[in-house]
Amino acid sequence: MNSAADPLASLPLRDDLQGMSPYGAPQLQVEVALNTNENTHPVPDAVVDAITDRVHLVAGALNRYPDRDFTALRKALASYLGHGLDERNIWAGNGSNEVLQQILQAFGGPGRSLLSFVPTYSMYPLLALGTGTRFIAGERDADFSLTADAAARQVAEHAPSVVFLCSPNNPTGTALELDVVDAVYRAGEAHRTVVVVDEAYAEFAREATPSALTLLEGRPRLIVSRTMSKAFALAGARLGYFAAAPEIADAMRLVRLPYHLSSVTQATALAALEHHGALLATVEDIKTQRDRIVHELTRLGLAPSASDSNFVFFDCGGDAHAMWQALLDDGVLVRDVGIPGHLRVTAGTETETSLFLDAVTGYLSAR
Ligand SMILES: *Cc1c(COP(=O)(O)O)cnc(C)c1O
Repeated sequence: MNSAADPLASLPLRDDLQGMSPYGAPQLQVEVALNTNENTHPVPDAVVDAITDRVHLVAGALNRYPDRDFTALRKALASYLGHGLDERNIWAGNGSNEVLQQILQAFGGPGRSLLSFVPTYSMYPLLALGTGTRFIAGERDADFSLTADAAARQVAEHAPSVVFLCSPNNPTGTALELDVVDAVYRAGEAHRTVVVVDEAYAEFAREATPSALTLLEGRPRLIVSRTMSKAFALAGARLGYFAAAPEIADAMRLVRLPYHLSSVTQATALAALEHHGALLATVEDIKTQRDRIVHELTRLGLAPSASDSNFVFFDCGGDAHAMWQALLDDGVLVRDVGIPGHLRVTAGTETETSLFLDAVTGYLSAR
């Protein structure tokens, strides 16, 4: 796809990268940015101080490489997760995207495949591409749900090296039942498929939505990934991690770059974990705003999906791009995820949520 319009066309790029565009949600300057599922609450002052203190402590030793095994951080992450996990079960990277990439570097790669069920997180095919892993776009039902039978059938059919299950699914917002995870794992037994459950939004789950952490015991190729980018309000710090059998964590050492987690990152994450109570205090508020969006959009006739996350996916009952533009004209940026007739909005603060709902109401009455 070398065209005059492609500024990279003159470079000797890998064949499979030619004509590709980089991942990128627009980073527009708007009053109300509800398009990337960030936690829109700033980091509380007490946590800012704790992070600053910890970073100050390591700053004088930045002439040295960091602890390559980030043992203190792995201990803290294990204790945060609970479920009887310890540091041997934990791995971390610069965001869960890096962790997912490392999983593909170790278990995917040339001649191997990644199965995921679309629509899902748009980074998965890009991570597959970057690691030379063939991406298989599995299917969901018309309402974007995924049943245990349908998922297991597709795993058996494709025999993928790795499966990514996004729960709750981004962009649709609903968590998977654990019977789906179990059925996928069992369907992959014959080919020793590695099954990853991406629980980036786990802390926002509705009451009684269980985590796949409860399934780790006895499943040596199951991985549950998490991030500090969403509930912890720490997207800028870049810290993602997973829990799995110790052998899986050990395998990551074969592909990670040496010293990949900087001393500053480790210090920041440790301080944040020590203050997880203060950081996660916004979660309940965000869930309240999320439920309010679901309730109000339903009242307006817009059919939102059930959400276990900090965002809501909804059928806008018409032209999604026209609605996206109208909201932007009102200073509210939501996400057009490329699914006809649908948009995704992040639950923000109470004020941001009100501005979003006002803009929607205004648009619908003018439409
Ligand atoms: C936001 C998000 C992530 C987090 O990525 P980080 O690299 O940890 O910031 C991972 N998975 C999904 C599905 C997401 O929506």
